Amino acid sequence: MEIRFDRDTCIGMFQCVAEWDAFERDEADGKADLAAAEEVAPDVFEREVPDDAELDAKFAARSCPVDAIEIYDDGDRVV
Ligand code: SF4
Repeated sequence: MEIRFDRDTCIGMFQCVAEWDAFERDEADGKADLAAAEEVAPDVFEREVPDDAELDAKFAARSCPVDAIEIYDDGDRVV
């Protein structure tokens, strides 16, 4: 399972931070940061989701009010 985070879209509401600890607050930027992620396009970050974090990652994606977080399973978007 993979996660894609559009940091440009993020408005720093930090619901995702409460759902998965891979998301961290960047108070200075008013944005979340996704730990251990690779920047695949300007301000777009991706990483693998560990098996034991899949539920948390999905909750993080669902909690985002601006749909900045997407979850993919074998290339298909699931959240
Ligand atoms: S929930 Fe969405 S808008 Fe809020 S910090 Fe996380 S990614 Fe950004």
